[in-house]
Amino acid sequence: MRKRYAVIGLGRFGASVARVLVEMGQYVLAVDVSEARVDELAPVLSRVVRADCTDPAALRALRINEFDTVVVAIGDNVEASVITVLNCRDMGVPHLVAKAQDEAHGRILKHLGVDRVVYPQRDMGIRVASNIATGGIIDYVRLSDEYGMAEITPPRMVLGRSLQELDLPHRYGLNVMAIKRGNRVIVSPRAQERIAEGDVMVVIGSAGGITRLQGE
Ligand code: ADP
Repeated sequence: MRKRYAVIGLGRFGASVARVLVEMGQYVLAVDVSEARVDELAPVLSRVVRADCTDPAALRALRINEFDTVVVAIGDNVEASVITVLNCRDMGVPHLVAKAQDEAHGRILKHLGVDRVVYPQRDMGIRVASNIATGGIIDYVRLSDEYGMAEITPPRMVLGRSLQELDLPHRYGLNVMAIKRGNRVIVSPRAQERIAEGDVMVVIGSAGGITRLQGE
């Protein structure tokens, strides 16, 4: 079902969130205080308005409480971010996501009752670093200190072997969620499935196991 999203703050992060939601066919209202940002994004996003969201009256005029999820993507100006979040809370926005610039900002947002605090700069840094440090890992999503999800280029020793033979759950603490083969994605591959050259394996499990498998 199509949901209604509002994205407040159209910096690099907010603009990218809004654009992807639009591409996914969702209803998106994008808001920024800067006339220049609004003008720049108007051709890409269909509903862009200029408003200062620290002003409760401006948010009321946008009927912000009628959106399913509001993303507050103001980072640099912590005061504007916090006041905007407070306004959204006061107006009864059901689901709030907010971007934090750093740990302290994130803690404040959590205390204000934000449902999901995101740290795009920090997370991208972690992803890029793991990517560079471990050659064959194409993408890594950290689930906790111990667990993660990774897209990896299969090491030589797994090529031509079936998942059953590889026994990754026992030997590496990993499960293969999918295999990307050309344009195809084999989701939940069967035990008989063999890994071919050019495949990309999508695995979930222990971070140590992912590193060990990659080192083979
Ligand atoms: P990024 O690091 O993702 O580029 P920024 O924190 O630099 O994010 O950008 C935040 C955006 O939020 C800017 O475009 C800015 O104009 C906008 N913004 C700042 N204060 C307000 C406000 N009170 N109401 C609406 N938008 C705001």
